[in-house]
Amino acid sequence: MNSEIIAIGSELLTPHRQDTNSLFVTERLNTLGVSVVFKTIVGDRPRHLISAIQTALSRTDIIVIMGGLGPTEDDLTREAAAHSLGIALKRDHTILAGLYTRAAERRSTMTRNNEKQSDILEGAIVLENPRGTAPGQWLDTVYGKHRKLVLLLPGPPSELKPMFDEQCMPLFKELLPNRFMAVRTLKVALIGESAADARIAPIYQQYSDVETTILAHLGDIQLSLVCTKATMPAARARVDELAGKIEEELEDLIYSSEGETLEQIVLYYLGMKASTLSVAESCTGGLVAERLTSISGASRSFWGGAVVYSNELKTELAGVPADMIERHGAVSREVAGALAEGIRLRCDTTYGLGVTGIAGPTGGSEEKPVGLVYIGVSDGKNTEVIERRFSGDRARIRAYASQTALDQVRRRLMQDC
Ligand code: AMP
Ligand code: MG
Repeated sequence: MNSEIIAIGSELLTPHRQDTNSLFVTERLNTLGVSVVFKTIVGDRPRHLISAIQTALSRTDIIVIMGGLGPTEDDLTREAAAHSLGIALKRDHTILAGLYTRAAERRSTMTRNNEKQSDILEGAIVLENPRGTAPGQWLDTVYGKHRKLVLLLPGPPSELKPMFDEQCMPLFKELLPNRFMAVRTLKVALIGESAADARIAPIYQQYSDVETTILAHLGDIQLSLVCTKATMPAARARVDELAGKIEEELEDLIYSSEGETLEQIVLYYLGMKASTLSVAESCTGGLVAERLTSISGASRSFWGGAVVYSNELKTELAGVPADMIERHGAVSREVAGALAEGIRLRCDTTYGLGVTGIAGPTGGSEEKPVGLVYIGVSDGKNTEVIERRFSGDRARIRAYASQTALDQVRRRLMQDC
């Protein structure tokens, strides 16, 4: 079954507030095997609300409407839903009495506009809201000739989330046949989104029951495989089979098949080999170290290193000979290798990583353009250096450099395994 989420509130159409409720609701619906096929954000205008709700009624089976259930002038969700569905709102006197009791307990006055919070769509189940005033509503109805499920939920996340988990989930489980969703996340480093897709599209297109999505961000590609079946083993079998075929095609370009980050994988391999790593970073200014230290327990394998931005510190902290920098320049194959081996010796680790490059936008030349980066990995016996040219702005170049550096360490560790 398909669903649509409508988030109501003019504040959600400003740069200052984000609709986060829909992410939560989507996650919960997905676990029930229900896909979200549309999301709409609409301001507090009756005409726009009605238009959004009617559009949803024309195209989806389950419609989750959130926000606009409060007592104020701009809280119009109940009225708009009733109008769109062509059904009446009935004042529920038990809820009304509850609102008066609650107001009395809090020694606040119950103004008339508060009363509309007890208006219920005819035929709806009331979803209690112990954390706020406006109850939610669950309406299982027929619209045109089709069965529709319409939910009205309060906007504040602290009210919506428990209401959804405690009251909606059990109702959904009664209503929907048992569905199980299996999810696998494969991660690929440093191959373009279109290049990856060109290679794997012929494979995943043969699995029409598995939804495959590709998400690319700064040299990191995430492939999500999702399959819903009547049993979990059936759903798992399909995603595992497809994941296996994609892994055969992309081989070692895939760094993770269970959704781990690149830094987690690097630390995992280091741990497995009982090895240690140190880094000397110039153009990435500590990005690599930051990523590794963001993982709890990193200290077992990642010992630290230095940000060696000036030539003097490259020499002083990583032992790069001053005349090497003089002869080849700080951004060079030689210096990247010397940084890797120098920091390894200085920190007494199994592996050393050196990164040097021109992040721009200034500092480039014809011979050494902006985006030129050298990455060295050394284990004392072998020092391998790669050269890359990244495009884009400073932030992008630095992000790609850190991604490539971590991936170089991963590849080296895999070779040595
Ligand atoms: P309302 O139910 O429209 O009175 O909304 C009350 C408050 O809930 C708003 O001021 C927002 O801060 C919050 N809220 C409403 N809708 C959302 C949403 N979709 N995601 C996150 N917060 C929301
Ligand atoms: Mg509102």
